[in-house]
Amino acid sequence: MHSVTLERDLQDVHDLSARLERGVDVDDGPLQQRLSLICSKLSAWQWCIHGETLPFRKEVTRWLVNKSKYTLARRYALCGKGDLLLQNSKSGAVRVKPMGCGAGFCPRCSRRCGRKHLARVASHLGSSSHGPIWHIVLTQPGRAQEPLTQSRTRFERAWKRFYPWLRKAGLVSALATYHVKPSRRYGWHYHCHLVVEFDGIVDEETLYHGVNVRWRECVSTDASHLDYKDVFMRKVCGAGEALTGMQNNTQLEFWDEPTDEVEKVLHYVIRDVLQGIEGWVSSLQRKEDVFDFCDAIGGMKRHRTYGKWRKKVVDDATEDTVESEEKDGPEGVLKSCLTKGDLEWSVLRSMDNCLHTSRHGDMQSTLALTQLIGCTNRSQGVLCRLKKVVTWIAA
Ligand SMILES: [Zn+2]
Repeated sequence: MHSVTLERDLQDVHDLSARLERGVDVDDGPLQQRLSLICSKLSAWQWCIHGETLPFRKEVTRWLVNKSKYTLARRYALCGKGDLLLQNSKSGAVRVKPMGCGAGFCPRCSRRCGRKHLARVASHLGSSSHGPIWHIVLTQPGRAQEPLTQSRTRFERAWKRFYPWLRKAGLVSALATYHVKPSRRYGWHYHCHLVVEFDGIVDEETLYHGVNVRWRECVSTDASHLDYKDVFMRKVCGAGEALTGMQNNTQLEFWDEPTDEVEKVLHYVIRDVLQGIEGWVSSLQRKEDVFDFCDAIGGMKRHRTYGKWRKKVVDDATEDTVESEEKDGPEGVLKSCLTKGDLEWSVLRSMDNCLHTSRHGDMQSTLALTQLIGCTNRSQGVLCRLKKVVTWIAA
């Protein structure tokens, strides 16, 4: 019954979009309203993957309509509603096949953007020995009222001056991820998380001192640097042999925790660095901030690799798998499930249908969900919300 209503709503959306595109209608208000309403009808699974971000997502949906991006607006509002549960016919393992919108400013899809970077770094660490690895956070002094584009330009200027120094200091490879949060006191807290592998020749003390002094020089070329803070920098692990458990864990939502202590620590750091935008949007209070944020995030590369990690590991197929999954749009998903190498996976049902039928006693659905929530003991995010939703399994 529910899906009939949705189908009718979507037909209306389609008609309204066509009228606007052809210039029959000028006012996009009705379409904004209709899509915002569709966005509000959050399914249980959508809540799991998007968390408490509904006001933000509604605002963005309207904004997209206003920018005449009708197709993306529809996909954005519906993101996750068609996610599928796949099962492997040989092993019985299950996985979620996302039907995402692909937007960088989507709480769920922004997380998925990190997958290929995780796969790349994991395949390097899994194929050869590594030097000491550090987690470094580079920030710049905030400025009241500064627009986001200016914060970004200012940061990039400092980074360009800093990077050559970092290479000379012994950088072998690095993964850089930008986090963009609005700040209450200042305009934007635009900063960079780095996971860096060094060659291990420089001692820790010298390295820490050097990074701090050099970064300060680079960000302080602009006038105010009164609130300059020391660089956050911590050693994640020392040099060591190849880490074999990393490669099997490139999913960003459901994954098995590595058993090796070094792998575990490193894995968590990389995951945390690659986080999506979910945690930032609650502080986007003003409409203008939401729009600036989406403009900036929509047009930027949030993750970058440097040095050795820029290159693909020879003969490694992990990335191709991730890549092909990334590219699946909401349409043609069923078809792509049946392409090469994926023959063993078949569609069980949609995630929402799985939640629904499991609640009403369907064993196949319950077993599948039990498999999903049994993987990692994470205290936040999608997995934690899924556990809240499926309380009947534990009971
Ligand atoms: Zn999405």
